[in-house]
Amino acid sequence: MSVRVRFAPSPTGFLHIGGLRTALYNFLFARHHGGSFILRIEDTDQERTVPGAVDNIIETLRWVGLEFDEGPHIGGPYGPYIQSQRLELYRQQAQLLLERGAAYHAFDTPEELERMRERQRRAGIAPKYDRFSMRNSFTLPAEEVQRLLAEGMPAVIRLAVPLDREVRFTDIIRGEITVHSRDIDDQVLLKSDGFPTYHLANVVDDHFMHITHVIRGEEWIPSTPKHILLYEAFGWEPPQFAHLPLLLNPDRTKLSKRHGDVAVEDFRRQGYFPEALLNFVALLGWNPTADRELFTLEELIAHFELSKVNRAAAIVDRRKLDWMNAQYLRQLPLERLARDLEPILRQMGYPEYPPEYLMRVIALLRERVDRLPEIATFGDYMFVPPRQYDWDYFRAHWRPELPQWLEEAVELLQTTEPFHAAVLQERFRQFVAERGQPLRAIVHPLRLILTGKSVGAGIFETMEVLGKRECIQRLRHFLQELLPAHLEQSPPA
Ligand code: GLU
Repeated sequence: MSVRVRFAPSPTGFLHIGGLRTALYNFLFARHHGGSFILRIEDTDQERTVPGAVDNIIETLRWVGLEFDEGPHIGGPYGPYIQSQRLELYRQQAQLLLERGAAYHAFDTPEELERMRERQRRAGIAPKYDRFSMRNSFTLPAEEVQRLLAEGMPAVIRLAVPLDREVRFTDIIRGEITVHSRDIDDQVLLKSDGFPTYHLANVVDDHFMHITHVIRGEEWIPSTPKHILLYEAFGWEPPQFAHLPLLLNPDRTKLSKRHGDVAVEDFRRQGYFPEALLNFVALLGWNPTADRELFTLEELIAHFELSKVNRAAAIVDRRKLDWMNAQYLRQLPLERLARDLEPILRQMGYPEYPPEYLMRVIALLRERVDRLPEIATFGDYMFVPPRQYDWDYFRAHWRPELPQWLEEAVELLQTTEPFHAAVLQERFRQFVAERGQPLRAIVHPLRLILTGKSVGAGIFETMEVLGKRECIQRLRHFLQELLPAHLEQSPPA
């Protein structure tokens, strides 16, 4: 039987890191086994459904490169893939369970249920639907139940959990899990408005969509015994289950918005590469080989093994993501990086540059930053003349001869041919040697004049990329306008 797995998000907001990890592991498993990866939207809780969330999930997964084989946006043989479009099926299946005595009607009002819970609190017992004291098919005569239903009395359908037995399943990651049926609630399956709960819809869909493996977060483990009972009641073969380890913040608290961004979209906006994000998320709970951490999607697919996923919670460490992203920045082809940088520059209002120039700038600066947009912020001087100068740095390297030297440096630049870093370096070395000075006596001021900053890539490499004209222009502007104004304001001591 060919592998079929599904990513089944509830459209209650943006796709977050945890959802991405679940989607990715399903994807890797499907691709590794040549199976199908299906998107199903679980929107039975209409109150929590957020408009636009489905599009966001699909678009975000497309951005990272996870393509589905079936889903609401592409169709497929077992649709519709949106639960709110399958209500009739759930109703029929709930009816089937009623007929088999595996489920029953209950007529309790919210107030009655609240009083039941209150009694249980006072008696110190765990809250659970008390089948034998409430108003339902067990406590009311059959004719009464029929009459109430015929009158249109609001009723839910509950699962009749067997009274005294063990419910067992084998989790691919965690091994055997056993729960006693007394610890399982008579779960509502169909609400009085005709909508199914998560449990009913999930099981019915996994069956009718021929899902072979359910791969989902650890928080769903308590639901699984209920699902097992449902499969039994229907007489269906359950899929295999694999529950993925919890994700934690570095301080071991539950991953949450309060600790910074968790929405994949936020990472995208900050300029992380989809490859880096996927690589990072892939290692939250699994590592293909002990000796390295950078993997392409193809490698992840080739190595993926569900049974090798850890049980222990995985820590989401942003510093590691930054490190990984920096590795990708250093390795991705320059053509691709230039293409990605272009819209960022446009958004910042910088002039347009040919891709060749962008590639040279990226090659110059990519060792010094973690994320592509930082090329445009840290390296702003490669696109526009510096707008701010680190004058403290300038003063630290000030000497009375400096203005004269800089005038001569303009001359030097003009006569340097070819305008290459090595040639520039050699000529400036001679220049300072003739004046009995070390190279830094001119390099530091030049760096400030050309970039506005005290740090950056090698200054001669920077000059080469900026080009002769631009360097001379910046130097002249500095000598003619900025320096006199600065000296007037704060004369050197
Ligand atoms: N709709 C559930 C969620 O939002 C799916 C859980 C499952 O995969 O069964 O995570």
